[in-house]
Amino acid sequence: MAAEFEHGAGGYARGHRCGVCRAGHARQFRDRLARRKAALTVGEDGRPYAPWVTTHGRSSYINHGCRCAPCTTAAVKHKAEYRKRIRKATPK
Ligand SMILES: [Zn+2]
Ligand SMILES: [Zn+2]
Repeated sequence: MAAEFEHGAGGYARGHRCGVCRAGHARQFRDRLARRKAALTVGEDGRPYAPWVTTHGRSSYINHGCRCAPCTTAAVKHKAEYRKRIRKATPK
């Protein structure tokens, strides 16, 4: 018999992708992001900045809400490339 399996964020972490697990994961992600955003400081350039992030880039832009120059540049660049890909893939 399998041990009790609790669906939600914990289930998602164990690879389960049912509706309950996905919703739990999404909520956990949102909560964590909201907490991180509340802890952001204002950087030298006046942008929200996450001082606990060691490597700034697109993932800290998404996962930590950091808006420092390297994070924003990486995110904007990725978005532009993504749009370019979509345009190429879409027939006229
Ligand atoms: Zn599940
Ligand atoms: Zn950053």
